[in-house]
Amino acid sequence: FLSNELLVARRNDACPAGLPSKSGIYAERAEGAELWDVDGKRYIDFIAGIGVLNVGHRHPKVQEAIKVQLEKVVHTAFGVAQYESYIALAERLNGLMPKSSQWKTMFMNTGSEATEQVCKFARRITGRPGLIAFEGAFHGRSLLATALTGKSDPYKIGFGPFPPGIYHAPYPNEYRGLSSDEALARLKELCTTSIRAEDVAGIIIEPVQGEGGFIPAPDEYLRGLREFCTEHGIMLIADEVQTGFARTGKMFAIEKSGVEPDFLVCAKSIAGGLPLSAVIGKADLFDKIGPGGMGSTYGGNPVSCAAALAVLDVIEEEGLIERAEHIGAKVEACWKELQEGVAKGVFGHVRRVGAMAAVECVTHGDVPDGQVAAAIQARAREHGLIFLTAGKKAHVIRTHVPLTASDAIVEEGLGLFVKATEEVLK
Ligand code: PMP
Repeated sequence: FLSNELLVARRNDACPAGLPSKSGIYAERAEGAELWDVDGKRYIDFIAGIGVLNVGHRHPKVQEAIKVQLEKVVHTAFGVAQYESYIALAERLNGLMPKSSQWKTMFMNTGSEATEQVCKFARRITGRPGLIAFEGAFHGRSLLATALTGKSDPYKIGFGPFPPGIYHAPYPNEYRGLSSDEALARLKELCTTSIRAEDVAGIIIEPVQGEGGFIPAPDEYLRGLREFCTEHGIMLIADEVQTGFARTGKMFAIEKSGVEPDFLVCAKSIAGGLPLSAVIGKADLFDKIGPGGMGSTYGGNPVSCAAALAVLDVIEEEGLIERAEHIGAKVEACWKELQEGVAKGVFGHVRRVGAMAAVECVTHGDVPDGQVAAAIQARAREHGLIFLTAGKKAHVIRTHVPLTASDAIVEEGLGLFVKATEEVLK
């Protein structure tokens, strides 16, 4: 017999306190945008495994691809025996990149591995030590990825010392008063006060900060960054772990700016819930690293590759890139209505890129208010709606609605959101 209550007690005995599992929801099964816990309670899922399930839970086409692959081969290690699906997936991903360059792709398992490895690659390719990331960024939990991350509590405090040579530039944020021009000027200043541009191997940027609070970098910032990188021979790396695979109304968020990165890393929604990450890079750069300079025992596992190929088919066949815009617009409209009504003065900036939609909870004009965000989140959970918060003070309500969700489910979820918000703020 299983129940949430019993499992919370067992979890507390068996697993460390530092694991983020405060929801107390123990999943029994899930489908599309719905999840049922072991008590039989149904939830509408507006977070999709933290941006992993753009095609929803257990998409039939992905399930089928996994089943077929399970009957053939589950693991070989790509370094021991290769398989066609790895190549096919690399070809598909290369084909998603701008046609002006030739691209190559290699696979790993998690976002952290991909961000960490791509920074190693940038160092090897350029022969330079420096790396620049951004304040508010999240790039993962391994030591280098943690060092790249730009939020100390809870990610960095006490976990250092970190590898040297890593610097953080301010991320542009028009709502909070940092324009693209000013942010670019600050980056250039960093490259005179703290490190020479000629010693920087790579600059890694999320085109829309995820954990940082769904903050988009303006197109002109990304273009200025590209120019700066080109001028100084710096690798421009796009971290699209959270923004990738149709979430933002483009296959990859950086497309909107027209900027071509040198490397792009992706993970999360790539394989419909199975662990897989990819580093896609310009062929002439990537091939500067000789045989044995990269690898991964499980990376590009045959089952994950089969799932990822099916995910790409689903995105195409079901028009999920267009669907992202449609779903995002519904969420935005709902929040703007609340902002004019019961949440007046509490819902600050409502923003979205495609279906990557967020609202800042604030007090006194624009002071971040994590408590209100947490209260709405907890009340919504009681009513059967799951989402997460993000941002400096966990004051940003964010949604990753599965892009396969029907209008009916999206509207039902938004109805629960409204109900929870009204109850908290009335
Ligand atoms: N980069 C970004 C932008 C992310 O959002 C995340 C995960 N939230 C990571 C890297 C790390 O990915 P993983 O948890 O798979 O290591």
